[in-house]
Amino acid sequence: MRVSVIGCGHLGIPHAVAMAEIGHEVIGVDLDRPKIDRLTRGQCPIHEGGLADLLARHTGTGRLRFSTGFAEAAAFADAHFLAVGTPLDAAGRGYDTTQVLGAAEALAPHLTRPCVVIGKSTVAVGTTRELAGLLARRAPAGEGVEVVWNPEFLREGHAMEDTLAPDRIVAGVPSRHAEDVVRELYDPLLRRGIPLCVTDHATAELIKSAANAYLGLKISFINGVADMCAAAGADVQQLAEAIGLDPRIGRGGLTAGPGYGGGCLPKDIRAFTAAAEALDAPEAAALLNAAERVNDSRPAAALRLVEETLGRAVTGAKVTVWGAAFKAGTNDIRESPALAIATLMHRRGAAVTVHDPLAVPTALTHHPYLTYETDLEASVTGAELVVLATEWPHFRHAAPDRLATLVARPVLVDLRNLLDAGTWRAAGWTVRQLGRPAHE
Ligand code: NAD
Repeated sequence: MRVSVIGCGHLGIPHAVAMAEIGHEVIGVDLDRPKIDRLTRGQCPIHEGGLADLLARHTGTGRLRFSTGFAEAAAFADAHFLAVGTPLDAAGRGYDTTQVLGAAEALAPHLTRPCVVIGKSTVAVGTTRELAGLLARRAPAGEGVEVVWNPEFLREGHAMEDTLAPDRIVAGVPSRHAEDVVRELYDPLLRRGIPLCVTDHATAELIKSAANAYLGLKISFINGVADMCAAAGADVQQLAEAIGLDPRIGRGGLTAGPGYGGGCLPKDIRAFTAAAEALDAPEAAALLNAAERVNDSRPAAALRLVEETLGRAVTGAKVTVWGAAFKAGTNDIRESPALAIATLMHRRGAAVTVHDPLAVPTALTHHPYLTYETDLEASVTGAELVVLATEWPHFRHAAPDRLATLVARPVLVDLRNLLDAGTWRAAGWTVRQLGRPAHE
């Protein structure tokens, strides 16, 4: 089929590339001219494993191209994916749908023949109805423009595998015809047995929000339990493994750490909390509020562990933070727990150096008051304490013997429980891990 993907960001680029990869002809559209120019040259502005190669391959063959023109997209495609951003609104309670409605407004006058507009962005329940009304009023094809809601579940750092092999595809459809279009678009994936959940608009919108809210609850639950483990001298890692063996609980996402972050989970939980209040479900809102409170308290919890390990306040200490990205595998720093902890220690008077293999350029732009180092060994030279805050695999393979010769004091706080603490201790390091007993 011929498809357009409107909005070329962390979601839109992998989706456009995946659509080309499964055989469609694709045009990606964005308002950001420099970004479109880079994409047209086959250069990828975001980091995702496998994405750059596929982008270069499909722009090379011409199956995938990019433009800033909505008229061009409307003339070319019969299915239009909306993948624009939905940040929190000014009140910080719901989604700002300016980009979604703006993209629809720009596209609508050019929709002169029947087509399907497929929303992928994360939105509040009711948005699809509003969008369908707008398109019916503004598009020359009128009621011939059908709207599907097809939320996206990709995880940053795993965007290509999640887009090409998702756990499930969800489609809120208004008609059998729209469902058939969805089936045709995703046919290569459906043939591989990937489940398609066909439902109505409101349920599709809520499925996405509820999934992210549940993930946030799970993370905050285990982080709250990590605090209890720390106080009781118990081991949250062993606890998570044991309770995760119960299939009703499951091990996935049950990992204690410095809190959830990124461009999705924090805002989706806030917006879902607001939706719970608006939809007269105050108990659900209270549950979600509690998850957010636990998450908000993570930088302070990390600081407590740091100061306990250091044996004094962090003021005046030379500290290295490993990690700036909100999680491994991406250069995205939106609501990054690593940078929240680095910033808190900086505010308390520590001299903080941040090391990250990918995210230093973006972190430097948004947090210029911190010092950055892209080389792992240089990052720890002279440090009194190293804080591991993002789970980059190369930290696991770092050489504790060699690093011990570079630091001022071999002391490490592992907020991701990533390292083999025994190996580090054998190399002379004092190691504390989150929610795990201290070993002398
Ligand atoms: P992003 O900010 O990385 O990308 C949004 C893009 O849309 C930008 O390139 C921007 O220039 C473009 N844009 C804005 N207004 C436009 C318009 N009117 N016309 C054309 N382009 C326009 O955002 P993102 O992370 O890709 O998220 C997009 C949506 O996907 C959000 O709703 C988000 O919640 C959802 N989502 C994101 C992820 C993720 O991992 N990032 C996962 C699932 C769902």
